[in-house]
Amino acid sequence: MESEQKTVDVSFENLLKIFTVPEGPDSTLTKIEAELSQNLNQFLREHIVADEKPLKEIEKDFSDAAIPEQPSFVSDHTQHLLDTLVAHSVHTAAPSFIGHMTSALPYFLMPLSKIMIALNQNLVKIETSKAFTPLERQVLGMLHRLIYQRNDAFYQQWMHSAEHSLGAFCSGGTIANITALWVARNNALKAQGSFQGVEKVGLYKAMQHYGYQGLAVLVSKRGHYSLKKAADVLGLGQDELVAVETDHNNRLCVKDLAQKMASLKAQNIKVIAVIGVAGTTETGNIDPLSDIASLCAEHGCHFHVDAAWGGATLMSNRYRYLLDGIEKADSVTIDAHKQLYIPMGAGMVLFKDPDAMRSVEHHAQYILRKGSKDLGSHTLEGSRSGMAMLVYAAMNIISRPGYELLINQSIEKAKHFAALIKAQPDFELISQPELCLLTYRYVPTATKQALEVANQAQQQALNDKLNELTQFIQKTQRETGRSFVSRTQLNPQHLNQLDTIVFRVVLANPLTHNEILESVLSEQREIAKQAPNLSKQLQSLTNDILEK
Ligand SMILES: *Cc1c(COP(=O)(O)O)cnc(C)c1O
Repeated sequence: MESEQKTVDVSFENLLKIFTVPEGPDSTLTKIEAELSQNLNQFLREHIVADEKPLKEIEKDFSDAAIPEQPSFVSDHTQHLLDTLVAHSVHTAAPSFIGHMTSALPYFLMPLSKIMIALNQNLVKIETSKAFTPLERQVLGMLHRLIYQRNDAFYQQWMHSAEHSLGAFCSGGTIANITALWVARNNALKAQGSFQGVEKVGLYKAMQHYGYQGLAVLVSKRGHYSLKKAADVLGLGQDELVAVETDHNNRLCVKDLAQKMASLKAQNIKVIAVIGVAGTTETGNIDPLSDIASLCAEHGCHFHVDAAWGGATLMSNRYRYLLDGIEKADSVTIDAHKQLYIPMGAGMVLFKDPDAMRSVEHHAQYILRKGSKDLGSHTLEGSRSGMAMLVYAAMNIISRPGYELLINQSIEKAKHFAALIKAQPDFELISQPELCLLTYRYVPTATKQALEVANQAQQQALNDKLNELTQFIQKTQRETGRSFVSRTQLNPQHLNQLDTIVFRVVLANPLTHNEILESVLSEQREIAKQAPNLSKQLQSLTNDILEK
């Protein structure tokens, strides 16, 4: 086989070709491009095979660490990619893939992203981006306005001002959250008299100057793991990220927040930020943002809202009230690559005050000179792509009312699915959807009755078995490849806070219709039957309880 393959020489002449003329119209790549642009969904359906090839087997295709000494033809290598990589990718755009925040994309983003890559603009500085810089500033202005709803004059004044910044475009929610806390930290420990500020002298001297015994950031127990990373890289330490209790709906408990803030203050520990979550990653709930804002104002600390996932709800005039209070936040994280249907690599952090980012401003001699409009002077990341172009295009092509329709139908579908789950004798809704995310589990009908009368030890025993069953169903369903829900562990109040494994569903794909939801449930019911031992154990536990 190997020896029959045509080979290509390593020559400078051939290398020049890859920078200039593409292969002819019959090449594999050209055919794929045509397929991609003619019918995106068909392309994905045809090229991703829903087989059960285990990861261990797939690893064998990616096991050679040597960089090839022999070049390949583009067509040959493209075929190789189709066979080894594309075929065993995850079909995240499938209407039955309802487990994560990654979903289908509008078709027009494929050709547009080609333009973006062809232009290869670097948004770090005007010299390599020109029109892309005002475009990105406008996109930040649009998202800022969506949150803070300031008037035209405000945006005329600040959006393109060299000395100001309404936010930062970045690769995702993680960097956005780090940026927000970076600004919060530097503003809390800012220069004063001869003290030069934490950004110059570091945390130890800054805390000495201000006389603090420690620093803290508060967020509910449902806060995203990126905040731990942020606490780590900002030198606070993960333990300084204080977890606030949540209520029965996974929302931050304001009373506990007030107590914790008072207690930290008494210990002379400076709270540099409190974070409200607008759309928790695991349960999709929204913290009481207005109440958190009041506490932050009282304590003079930065209020950040992590709306990485839920922020897109602001597009909906019908549902934006769910995020009331977000306009009081000093900063807000929104991921365009979640509910704004943009491919990954599109996060944003917006700041209410156009001056807020001054404390993280950086300058260099060859770029980012003082007074320049280079975006890089306010971003954690350096070189960055022109992703903002895709957000800009989607905002124009879909428009605000278009996004509203997408958001509304997702929320309403989640409500429908919740009702469907509740109507089943053998399923249990664990968290009611506020947005388009919900959790539930499979519980055989008799076991449901047993759970209601069980004592604590019995409840625990039943729950342990149900956890095993949920895991088994989720894993089997994923491996079979027909549909996908994710799973997480919660401690629901109505289940005495027992560790409870649940299915997690995110209904983002507009192509997911109600019959698919019904079939997901019947598939799960069928898979449950494939675990005879577990079922038997669960049944005997159940019988023991019900017979008494
Ligand atoms: C997804 C998410 C993040 C992290 O965003 P990435 O884009 O994955 O870095 C942070 N917070 C919340 C609430 C999220 O849902």
